[in-house]
Amino acid sequence: MTPVTAPTVRGTAPQESSVADVLDAYRKHLGRGRARLASMTGGVMEIASYGARVFAADGREYVDCGGYGVFLLGHCHPRVVEAVVAQVRRHPLASRLLLEPVAAAAATALAEITPPGLDYVHFVNSGAEATETAIKLARAHGLQRLISATGGYHGKTTGALALTAKPFYQDPFRPLLPAEHIPYGDAEALASALAAGPAACVVIEPVQGEGGVVLPPPGYLRDVQLLCVQYGAFFVLDEIQTGLGRLGTWWGADTEDVRPDVLLVGKNLSGGVIPVAAAVATAEAYAPFDRDPFLHTSTFAGAPVAMAAAHAAVRTIAEEGLVEQAHLLGIDLIDRVRDTLAPLGDAVADIRGKGLLIGIEMRDEALAGELVLHLLEAGLLVNHSLNAHRVVRLTPPAVLTRSDLDRISEAFTAASAALLKGLH
Ligand code: PLP
Repeated sequence: MTPVTAPTVRGTAPQESSVADVLDAYRKHLGRGRARLASMTGGVMEIASYGARVFAADGREYVDCGGYGVFLLGHCHPRVVEAVVAQVRRHPLASRLLLEPVAAAAATALAEITPPGLDYVHFVNSGAEATETAIKLARAHGLQRLISATGGYHGKTTGALALTAKPFYQDPFRPLLPAEHIPYGDAEALASALAAGPAACVVIEPVQGEGGVVLPPPGYLRDVQLLCVQYGAFFVLDEIQTGLGRLGTWWGADTEDVRPDVLLVGKNLSGGVIPVAAAVATAEAYAPFDRDPFLHTSTFAGAPVAMAAAHAAVRTIAEEGLVEQAHLLGIDLIDRVRDTLAPLGDAVADIRGKGLLIGIEMRDEALAGELVLHLLEAGLLVNHSLNAHRVVRLTPPAVLTRSDLDRISEAFTAASAALLKGLH
């Protein structure tokens, strides 16, 4: 028999790698597309973070207003890190045969702050999996028809992708689950769609995040709920990006006092530390999983280490008043953005937002790309919107300090001046 020898693992410890080595490994093992993207942002390596700050290997420091909406608590919030580290030391993953007290605690904490009646929590590992859970719950109730809004973003797994209405993501993977897309914010369009076929599962965001921070007209969510009741539809509210305080309220649902059949939660639930998401359902919506817990499972879903993060995140948001803080910081921040970008005139088409979800719509995609790069150069991380490339998106933490806010203003002032030069 050939003796088994351990394979040689090449490479230096990650923290000591050079930019060239890392880019080379990206090209060889993660893909040239990812290497190209990293080069476009200057080939800077991020190696540490705390609060609103991200630190690079070359000594540069950034204020993080991006993170695709994950860092409401900032990076490495001590309460979440301590809860996770303690759980890792004690019992990171579970046997799955015995009772898991930390899952019970996380579900209880989450159910306490979701709208009344949303009591049943199914934990998963990512936002897209939360969407899958909702689709499967609807199917288990016999509803196969799917309706979502144009510009909506609900994840990229093959089920969720049917709802993420963007041909660029969908086309290579057709046929997908059949889904219909209606204009966002248009209750009449939803009424017509619901009237035209069998009962459906309707998946909507309270504010479209990746769609470019699109705020629906007042009363829209309430109308969606009423229409779903009228036509026997399953109402899924995707709060993966908007939930847990991002909008300056616990939920987008709170702004119109609606209660969906299923509420999707992700991003901030991680506390910025461990990936975790959830679908929170009413007793009636959850009934199929209540009857048979093996209907929808995943090895790592709801693992103790993720439950420790989720529990600590929810408690910290509540106890540190981060929802109110997101509301107040959002008012200050949008004013700063408007003031500093005013010299750009009509190069900026619109600045809008709610709480700490702020969109800057530029006249065209090229200008939006330049704004992102100038801000990066000035030490500020922001994101473009995946479904609306003209819209630069800010999703900063609710733990921004005065000095973070001043750095943000300075970065916008510098980026505005640099863009203005290019416009003349
Ligand atoms: N739903 C919404 C509203 C989102 O914003 C996102 C991600 O941006 C998702 C679903 C998918 O979440 P994930 O990327 O964790 O799969």
